Amino acid sequence: MKAFVLAEPGKVTWYDAKEPELVSNGAILRPIAVAPCSSDVHTVFGGGSKKQPNLVLGHECIAEVLTVGENVKDFKPKDRVAVPAITPNWRDKSIQENNFNHAKAPFSGHQLGRSQPGVFSERFLIPDADTTLAHIPAEISEEQALMSVDVVTTGFTGAEYADIKMGDAVCVIGIGPIGLMAVAGAKLRGAARIIAVGTRPVCVELAKQYGATDVISYKNGDVVQQVMDMTNGIGVDATIIAGGNAEVLTQAYDMTRYGVGTISNINYFGGTGYLPLPIFSSGRGMCGKTLHMELAKGGRVRIERIMELIKYGRVDPAPLVTHHLYGLDKVEDALYMMRDKPSDLVKVMVHCD
Ligand SMILES: [Zn+2]
Repeated sequence: MKAFVLAEPGKVTWYDAKEPELVSNGAILRPIAVAPCSSDVHTVFGGGSKKQPNLVLGHECIAEVLTVGENVKDFKPKDRVAVPAITPNWRDKSIQENNFNHAKAPFSGHQLGRSQPGVFSERFLIPDADTTLAHIPAEISEEQALMSVDVVTTGFTGAEYADIKMGDAVCVIGIGPIGLMAVAGAKLRGAARIIAVGTRPVCVELAKQYGATDVISYKNGDVVQQVMDMTNGIGVDATIIAGGNAEVLTQAYDMTRYGVGTISNINYFGGTGYLPLPIFSSGRGMCGKTLHMELAKGGRVRIERIMELIKYGRVDPAPLVTHHLYGLDKVEDALYMMRDKPSDLVKVMVHCD
């Protein structure tokens, strides 16, 4: 079976992988469409934790069910499903403590393309179909369903942990696909003013479409100063970090209100070392600002609820898909596109048939 794998850090290749073996709660699926994302770029080129040899990459996928195990109730062959990027083990007892993403071990919720074979292959296994897979409503396009599984849920996770209240001023730092969905999520949560920080014209245009009231760029001066000037010197109620390197955390602290402000990070920080927290704007340890650092929410109910939001017109992630490629073997080109980011790219979708 043909699969696109991480041969060794920094090197990808096509590999004749072992067929997935069906388990009693599981399903074997065939990808209909997949998308590489920045996380795959980090996995391949950014170091990170040690991976098993020839790990099959990929975690963004819509698929057709081929076979199901004897215990599976809600899915049958030929069903079209969205496969969540984050697939917690709902049978782990730590789930009862609401520890969805790190039950038993750190990042246990992020399995596909990390601790189990990913979706960039001709077939793959989801070990627990009923708790993981999401039925795609007939009204939802393939683009919309594919964007639901990671990009929308991650951006919305940022907005949810930002604890946005109606009328809040929110800053979203970084307007790649995730940040754009954080903008959309902030709007849905009731933000009044949404200041997006970004520069690439294709993303600036989409940020406005998704609800940004202002777009600012580092090219026009210090970002923190711009936000403070726009908010009469008090800063925003919430800051969502969806891009940037370690210094972005300092910016977020500097621009977020004392006493009631929340900082919600959904950004990936590469490398090792430390994330700097500024002594002054953390109030010398007494600022009253809350910091969340979160992996996206996953699982079946989450993705089905996101597709309900799409179905009823609350959000449309389809415009995020700016590029289409055809054939599973094009996933390699798509990965390089996500790494090199041509100026008109937001997300690339690979149609597998
Ligand atoms: Zn992803």
